[in-house]
Parts: sequence; structure tokens; C-alpha cells
Amino acid sequence: MIIDQKKCVACGNCVAVCPMGAIHIDPVAKRATVNQDECVECYTCFRGMSTEHLNPTMVRTIRKIGSWLRWRFDPEPDVCPTAAITEQELAWPRIVRRAFSDPVVPHESTGVHGRGTEEVKTNDVTNRVGPDDAGFTVEFGRPTVGVRFWQIQEMTTALARMGIEFEKRNPVTSLMTDTKTGEIRSDILNEKILSAIVEFKTSLANAPAVLQKVKEVAKTLDTVVAVGAAARCDEQGENRLEEMLIREGFTFNRGKTNLGLGRPSVEAAKAHVHAG
Ligand code: SF4
Ligand code: SF4
Repeated sequence: MIIDQKKCVACGNCVAVCPMGAIHIDPVAKRATVNQDECVECYTCFRGMSTEHLNPTMVRTIRKIGSWLRWRFDPEPDVCPTAAITEQELAWPRIVRRAFSDPVVPHESTGVHGRGTEEVKTNDVTNRVGPDDAGFTVEFGRPTVGVRFWQIQEMTTALARMGIEFEKRNPVTSLMTDTKTGEIRSDILNEKILSAIVEFKTSLANAPAVLQKVKEVAKTLDTVVAVGAAARCDEQGENRLEEMLIREGFTFNRGKTNLGLGRPSVEAAKAHVHAG
């Protein structure tokens, strides 16, 4: 994102809108500017603010005269009065910033809006996580913090050595050069994004060791790391993963229990019959 320096009147409204703190008012130029290294191309400023098309020279003059008279002329706080916030054409590798940071843009590798797949929410149908498996999501970054791909790679390469299997339809997996080593394309490693989710599964027996590894690596990363684990329940609604986590001293909360009522769509069932 860039700010059209000819149009900006330095009202400061966009500064508060940016979840990365990437916009500031340059005190010398008296214009807003975007720190391109910190901007994750989330489009919050571009899409989230209303725009007016006031004449910049007129607005600056009114603001200047107003300041002499100790009187302020400020636009409504959610408005860019001169439509100065300008999107730029994103080329590779910068375009990955938008794919992971703008929730309105579907990621081309999955067709899913945002950063991950449906994880195990549709496990009734996909059977990704089998009875002896544990499924994991490791989420990196948050507004104001973000994450760079080299930080994600620290985790994925460590996990790859633990006998895990990365989810194929996940956007981060699609950017790996080798899913056996967890290495990510070198040309995007320094790109910063709002957040990303790595998804993988392993055997139930391996789950505590994998969680220990996530904990160990997360401590070395200067970002936020949140972990989700999933397992299949028995007929009483219990599962072996929870027992293991308690035994190993992990604290956790059960977030969701899927009742198992999902069924494939008619189209998917037909496709399955044809493929069979
Ligand atoms: S809202 Fe528009 S005019 Fe105001 S500082 Fe930001 S870019 Fe400049
Ligand atoms: S696109 Fe997002 S990160 Fe970049 S300046 Fe706008 S709000 Fe900030």
C-alpha cells in the first residue's frame, strides 16, 4: 500500500487503522507514509476507510488557516478526505503478503479465504485425522506482531524431523520446496504477513513429543504461536489424546466437539463413485 503524497493532507486517520502500525505521519514532509517492510498488504486501510474526494490544496489551506485561529478542521475519523490511500500492483514475492493477510482474497493454492484450510472441522467427510492420529494446527502471528516466513520455517523444519505429515491443501505447505524437510521457498523467507497456520498430523503416540518440540521452538521466535490439537472421540466422547496431554503435563481446553453428522455433498459422493 502506498500513500499518494500529492493527495495526503496528514489528518492521521489512517494511522490508527493499520493493524501493523506501518503508517506514520512524516513530521518533515507532513504526509502519511507506509513502512513497506512492515506493511503486510492486509488492505484494512484501503478497504476499511471511507473516502472523500476533497481538493488536497483546499483542505491543507483550511487546516493551516484553522491552526492559526486555534481551530481544527478534521475529517470524520473513519474517512480519508482526499482518497490518498493507493493500492499498488503486487508482484511476486510481495503478493504472498496479501494472500496471508487480506481475508477477502482466496489463496490460490486452496481456494480458501484466509490462511488455512477447514482443518479438522470437516473430518467427518475428509477423514484426515484417523483413529490413531493426532491433527495439529500451529498458528503464527497476530495483528501488531505479524510473522515472517523464515520464522515459520524454523518451526516447519524442526517438525519435519519429528515424523509428521504436512497437510497438502494448506497454503504454507504449498510454499514449501520440500515437504520432507519443511523448507520454504527461499525467495519469500523475508516476507512479512499478518498470520499463517501450519497444519499437519502425526501418530497419537508421537503427539506429546511433537508438542514439546513446538513449545521449544516457539520460545525462540519473536512472534505469537498458538497450537490446536485434534483427535477422534470414541462413542462416549472421550479420546486418547486428552489423556496423554494430561499425563504429560500440558494444559489445554477442549474447544470444539464435532458430533460426526457431516456427510459428503451429493456431487462429492457421485465423483467418488465415478473415481472408484
Ligand atoms: S487518512 Fe488520507 S489524508 Fe489522512 S493521513 Fe491518511 S492518507 Fe493522509
Ligand atoms: S495494507 Fe494493512 S499493513 Fe499495509 S498500511 Fe494498510 S493497513 Fe497497514
